[in-house]
Amino acid sequence: MTVETAETKPLSIGDIRSSIASGESKANAIAEASFEKIEARDPQIHAYLSVNRERALEQASRIDDLAAKGESLPVLAGVPVGIKDVLTIEGLPATAGSKILEGWRAPYTATAVQKLEAAGAVVLGKLNCDEFAMGSSNENSAYGPVHNPYALDRVPGGSSGGSAAAVAAGMAVATLGTDTGGSIRQPASFCGVVGILPTYGRVSRYGLIAFASSLDRVGPFTASVRDAATVLGVIAGHDPQDATSSPLPVPDYTADLDKGVAGLKLGIPSEYFAEGLDPEVRAAVERSIDQLRSAGATVKPISLPHSRYAIPTYYVIATAEASANLARFDGVRYGFRAKDANTLSSMYRRSRDLGFGAEVKRRIMLGTYALSAGYYDAYYKKAQQVRRLLTEDFLKAFAEVDAILTPTAPTPAFKLGEKVDDPVSMYLADIYTVTASLAGICGLSVPCGKSSEGLPIGLQILGKHFDEAMMLRVAQTVEALQS
Ligand code: GLN
Repeated sequence: MTVETAETKPLSIGDIRSSIASGESKANAIAEASFEKIEARDPQIHAYLSVNRERALEQASRIDDLAAKGESLPVLAGVPVGIKDVLTIEGLPATAGSKILEGWRAPYTATAVQKLEAAGAVVLGKLNCDEFAMGSSNENSAYGPVHNPYALDRVPGGSSGGSAAAVAAGMAVATLGTDTGGSIRQPASFCGVVGILPTYGRVSRYGLIAFASSLDRVGPFTASVRDAATVLGVIAGHDPQDATSSPLPVPDYTADLDKGVAGLKLGIPSEYFAEGLDPEVRAAVERSIDQLRSAGATVKPISLPHSRYAIPTYYVIATAEASANLARFDGVRYGFRAKDANTLSSMYRRSRDLGFGAEVKRRIMLGTYALSAGYYDAYYKKAQQVRRLLTEDFLKAFAEVDAILTPTAPTPAFKLGEKVDDPVSMYLADIYTVTASLAGICGLSVPCGKSSEGLPIGLQILGKHFDEAMMLRVAQTVEALQS
């Protein structure tokens, strides 16, 4: 097969800001070049669901005006960004990849997007994703799948497939995605980019169309670890609009990046290197671990004994919360309404039946079942208890190690169509990512090699609650040792 090479030398956030400040380039020209790139590349990739040229060029002109006056530029000045279509921007569409939100325009802007814009970023458009972020391949989007920039016959991963592919193909310098069970880390791994799952509570969920509220998180995709740290620093922080957002101060995530790994203790959980792991993924991850050891880290085997319960636990909790969150889409207040209904209840039923796709309906049914009287204790309550045990596994491990290393996904990007008829095999694509989601800890995926077919492979680095700086420091070392 032929593997297309994704763009290898993307612009960095620091370069963009300094070239605009020095007058060498203009934010406007950078935005125009991004739209040209989207026109050239996106017909094959389909990462964008909508673009907003006029609005983006206005934002870029504001940056050019500041530069012309010689004023100091904000940290993301002129950086072209794309936003997963589950995050709202006032006046713009937000489909969540669903037909049920077709035509709906958001009344307010998500906090994470507001913060990007306040830091000078230029929002190019909204990015494709699995419907309501449910999926691991982007094939559940009502608007068609995204294609992996490295191999167009393969999936980009999901659910934030558009966010990962846009960065990999140079159609944005940074993007926002969301991760409930792996939706930032797994597509980052499949598309050869960096993707961060911040600690639960680190980044506001205000303006995020909810899937599973106790698990949903917003985080960045970029081409480099340094850029990811920069964007995380911009979007993190307390937000009175999100009751679960943490008041802890936000450190400078770039400060410790170059400290190296000498003296750090890194844990390798045996449960993540068992049956089902692709040999090429294993080889790339083990090579990275060896490199970190040579760079001075102590590598320690650890155990996370409840890991094997993570997938069933996740699919009980996530579907239960989704069934409640998605009750609001009833044909009355948002987007799509079935035309052929003649009573109120048939309008609700028809709108939901025609508006939601198959996977979303499957999850609403699973979640409703798990929450019904008589089953609640057996499923939802039990899953919450197992969630606690999984969290304790991590707390115990982090008493002994600074960060944990695992593969991000069991395989490189699979073929489009390969798993669509087998939900369980699709759910297993999240086997290494759902544990951190349930435990609320932070994680990221950083590229650590390629398969023999040239497909990217990601290393997952997990950190303690609110210890993003530590995992970023390890990731920076992994990245430096790659080149
Ligand atoms: N693939 C997982 C799911 O389908 C995770 C999705 C996500 O993180 N949003 O639920």
